Amino acid sequence: MTTIDSNRLAGMFAAIADAMSADRDRLCALDGVIGDADHGIAMELGFTAARDAVAALDGGTTDPTTLLNTAAKSFLNAVGASSGPLYATAFMRGAAAVKGKVALDDADTVAVFQAMAKGIQDRGKAEPGEKTMIDAWVPAATAAGEALAAGKGLAGSLAAAAEAARAGAEATKTMIATKGRASRLGERSLGHMDPGAASAVTVIEAMRVALTG
Ligand code: ADP
Ligand code: MG
Repeated sequence: MTTIDSNRLAGMFAAIADAMSADRDRLCALDGVIGDADHGIAMELGFTAARDAVAALDGGTTDPTTLLNTAAKSFLNAVGASSGPLYATAFMRGAAAVKGKVALDDADTVAVFQAMAKGIQDRGKAEPGEKTMIDAWVPAATAAGEALAAGKGLAGSLAAAAEAARAGAEATKTMIATKGRASRLGERSLGHMDPGAASAVTVIEAMRVALTG
């Protein structure tokens, strides 16, 4: 059993911010093909702001809910692109899922993860198959829940989530975008990976490593 406290969550945001900086140019290039080429910049800005905001909190007295809400607010303020409200909602829903808890057990942490995916889905109203980040997040959340129920623990659950996210992102190449900026391309979006699904893989993998590594 892994116990996740606010210091560990702050470390997770630092890890995601590093991963986004490393992935920025690839994500901008993917968005350049079917969008407006800013996705890597948006994600780096958002997670850098979230990292800095949560690092300024006192990890000893801040509960996970407050930390995740702080991350949400700073992400939203930093990002003008559509990924801003989507990830801000994800963190707010994650915060609400563990209200009142000081330390998160495996089930709590998977609940945060699932609430994040549900938040993105509720905020963006995208269905699976519409070529968005949902096509990585929803199968990842399902896989995490199934692995946890099968007794795999947090490491096994997040590993299953990362694998499902990778498969989901890969599958967006065969989808025609019907939500977001890429929907303007219609069939011309075929053959290209959705940038938001690609960055979701990077976010989820960084979460896995930071929370279970
Ligand atoms: P923008 O399109 O405003 O420039 P970004 O480039 O930051 O925003 O993000 C683009 C990504 O956002 C897309 O690749 C897609 O995955 C995701 N996205 C767009 N609209 C939605 C939506 N309604 N629901 C879920 N994800 C969406
Ligand atoms: Mg964009």
